[in-house]
Amino acid sequence: MTASEQIKLKAPQDIKILKKAGRILSSIVKETSRSLKSGMTTRQLDAIAEKLINEHDVTPAFKGYRGFPACCCISVNEEVVHGIPGDKVIREGDIVSIDVGIIYQEFYSDTAVTVGVGKINSKLQQLLEVTRQSLYEGIKQAKPGNHLGDVSHAIQKYVEDRKFSIVRDFVGHGIGKNLHEAPEIPNFGSPHTGPILKEGMVIAIEPMVNVGTWQTRICQDGWTVVTADGQPSAHFEHSLAITADGPLILTE
Ligand code: MG
Repeated sequence: MTASEQIKLKAPQDIKILKKAGRILSSIVKETSRSLKSGMTTRQLDAIAEKLINEHDVTPAFKGYRGFPACCCISVNEEVVHGIPGDKVIREGDIVSIDVGIIYQEFYSDTAVTVGVGKINSKLQQLLEVTRQSLYEGIKQAKPGNHLGDVSHAIQKYVEDRKFSIVRDFVGHGIGKNLHEAPEIPNFGSPHTGPILKEGMVIAIEPMVNVGTWQTRICQDGWTVVTADGQPSAHFEHSLAITADGPLILTE
């Protein structure tokens, strides 16, 4: 089976549910990021998200996924992704990535933002802006007839032109009735390569951008990914549907 044959296309009624799921998730993540304050632990931040997930009567997608113990992945400063909420205290000047997934009517939705706590330095500010914009550069290419490599390349080029590096070891993914579906969506690659994008595909694009080296390592907890050189990293993610009119962001 070729990669393009593995891609699951969603029917219009499925897209409708995915839109609702995305709207709910977006409101949860926005409210969680607004509650972020210096002095708070990452566990407290996760508890805020969990309360909101329960209030919306949706299911947390990450809790219990391969044994992950929380609703959010919370990754601070040099942590790239998959940080486990715990006793770590968030301080003024930190950057905090909040990655959340939910299940609504059997469909998954997945999004992430990175936010600064209070005043952050100009390098971190630029890191956040470049990472966020690289996501949108990738999304612009997510239209029927384009190759997956067009999305990957747009992200990589935007990031590297600005002298940041793009993480290779972790990638985006298809999403639907599973959290991770084919195809994988790398944030690096060559234009006009890979599977051709089709109307009805639903994908999560999630660039992870580092100030220093693109290389990463996994901590002893088996989850938390950190930059190999200890320099900061940011992460933004949207779930989106590919429609005849182009990309439709579900988690905005
Ligand atoms: Mg994801």
